[in-house]
Amino acid sequence: MRAFLCLKTQQLVIRVLSPSAAVRWGAAQSRFLCSSSPEESKSRPSMLRHLTTKLKATGPITVAEYMREVLTNPVTGYYVRNNMLGPDGDFITSPEISQIFGELLGVWIISEWMGAGRPKQLQLVELGPGKGSLAGDVLRVLSQLRSVLGEASVSLHLVEVSPALSLLQAQNLTRSCSQEADSEDEPVYRRGETAAGLPVSWYRRLDDVPAGFSIFVAHEFFDALPIHKFQRTQKGWREVMVDIDPDKPDKLRFVVAPSPTLASSTLVQADERRDHVEVCAEGGVIVQQLSKRITEEGGAALIADYGHDGTKTDTFRGFKGHQLHDVLSSPGSADLTADVDFSYLRRMAGGGVACLGPVSQRTFLKNMGIDTRMQVLLRSCVDPTTRKQLISSYDMLTNPIKMGERFHFFSLLHHSRLAKPKKTEGLKLDKKKSPAPLPVAGFTELSIS
Ligand code: SAH
Repeated sequence: MRAFLCLKTQQLVIRVLSPSAAVRWGAAQSRFLCSSSPEESKSRPSMLRHLTTKLKATGPITVAEYMREVLTNPVTGYYVRNNMLGPDGDFITSPEISQIFGELLGVWIISEWMGAGRPKQLQLVELGPGKGSLAGDVLRVLSQLRSVLGEASVSLHLVEVSPALSLLQAQNLTRSCSQEADSEDEPVYRRGETAAGLPVSWYRRLDDVPAGFSIFVAHEFFDALPIHKFQRTQKGWREVMVDIDPDKPDKLRFVVAPSPTLASSTLVQADERRDHVEVCAEGGVIVQQLSKRITEEGGAALIADYGHDGTKTDTFRGFKGHQLHDVLSSPGSADLTADVDFSYLRRMAGGGVACLGPVSQRTFLKNMGIDTRMQVLLRSCVDPTTRKQLISSYDMLTNPIKMGERFHFFSLLHHSRLAKPKKTEGLKLDKKKSPAPLPVAGFTELSIS
């Protein structure tokens, strides 16, 4: 059975044959491969003014509140724009580097749908879809493998906080055939249909996505969620806050809260050994929601991001024009991000679901058959420039010192997915050789032996 499922997944990879060049940006720089910015950035006074007014009225705010305001404020927030991704933006992500990335995730989705017993309904839910490139590549795979999906009804659900990015996603995924909701209170704020006729819906929150068997994908989403920062002091854990610099009223600075905050009393583990910790409580809540949905409705979640397993300390940083950027300088003009703590996500997922990973991006993509896919593409590609770009994007995604070891894949699965298959009635099985659980693609090496 193990060999059977592996072979199936391998076959899916081979069948995903897209003749077009699998490169989006050859000379890519990820958020991890940037140097410090030599330039002082142009300021966005409205966000700074908004923050200083708020700080004067309320006093210092938590780093989480700062990050939330700077990134997602509906008027001046960073993600209100739509031009942060790509060569002319602030950072580049794996789906933007090569379409192979999204294609392999498409294969993972189908493989998990098959592993769940091919339910009649498949909701594909992406959190933070950026330009919609990953969803577009996944949908292409789904349409190439339509015969595998049979009669299953497939729909796409996008959780996106930025109206500008949702419009860009709609342009890319529905050929501009989408409509905004009449009222701002509608849980679905935009609807459309892909060229192949699949319904696409946009939501501000995961909570608004309808119940049903779903495969959730979150790529570079959790790192954009607000984090709390805590510092160990002689008096115990204290929360790091953001305040106005008293010497320079148009500048912000970090301060340490003099007494415990609700967050510092509740979010730091009693046996914590580090001196500085970052906790993404919002990410924890989202993982709890995913876990509950998967337990109740079936499905799986695939979370891919840069991160660690509860070992790192200060990872909060900014990116602007592919350069590192001071997180407190000209807020709203640069991306803010922090490494994902997978050990925290695992804890928040609870026992209702099975957690796999984190495994490195290199391991995941190799297990998914990226080498086979590359061979197929290179065999059919004669143009030397495209070949060079294919090889360099493959290197960017898998090289251990580039994105290969820095990005990780983590999955939440329904417990039944890893349970041993039930013995077939009447079949005599050697008790010692009861069937092993079916492997989960990407987290297990594909082998045809
Ligand atoms: N997944 C894409 C984009 C990553 S950038 C890629 O890998 O290319 C982060 C994305 O998450 C953006 O689309 C941003 O608008 C969205 N986002 C950030 N915070 C969000 C929140 N709180 N709720 C929903 N979407 C959010």
